[in-house]
Amino acid sequence: MTTNGKGGFIAAALGRCPVCGQGKLFKSYLKVAETCKVCATDFKAADTGDGPVVFVILIAGFAACAGLLISFLAWNWSPATLLAVWPAFAVILSLILMPILKGLMVAAQIRHKIRD
Ligand SMILES: [Zn+2]
Repeated sequence: MTTNGKGGFIAAALGRCPVCGQGKLFKSYLKVAETCKVCATDFKAADTGDGPVVFVILIAGFAACAGLLISFLAWNWSPATLLAVWPAFAVILSLILMPILKGLMVAAQIRHKIRD
């Protein structure tokens, strides 16, 4: 029943408990639940702070900048099209990445605190 190693991180990235892989990790979009309802793992000790945001900015910022440069230099998109597409892309990608990266950071914290 216990997942460890990559299994726990994959479960957490999908919004499930990194210990059992069954219970929900979040009680809302980015709010971490207090405990796992299946295996009773305490999530309160995990505090990711601004950690996930750094990675979201790096990944989404790089993807949006790369896309903007390619679409401008290779496909000659107009400035209006660039302005319409790439900021929206960055926002949507950030919203998709936030719970994934937050789940991964919570999993890393729980994994290291449990092994203390
Ligand atoms: Zn659990």
